[in-house]
Amino acid sequence: MTTLNNLTGSVCTRCGKPRVVVESYEEKVETSLVTYTITACSDPECQKKVDLVLKEEKRKRLAIKDEQEKRELLRKATFAARKNA
Ligand SMILES: [Zn+2]
Repeated sequence: MTTLNNLTGSVCTRCGKPRVVVESYEEKVETSLVTYTITACSDPECQKKVDLVLKEEKRKRLAIKDEQEKRELLRKATFAARKNA
């Protein structure tokens, strides 16, 4: 069950239910202490779907990056080949 004192004050953009803090930690950045909070939807089923979407987006981003790197290598190789011709 979700306790009321870990509510974040924001709502899930997917289902409109309140988002809750699942984890918070402090990290020293230069001279100040910064508190980071990891939040999730209070509905675990909804959060699972959100996670899936995020995971898929990350996978796509990585695939695009990979593709761009390959193209860049190919471009360089073609350029080098032309220069040597
Ligand atoms: Zn939600």
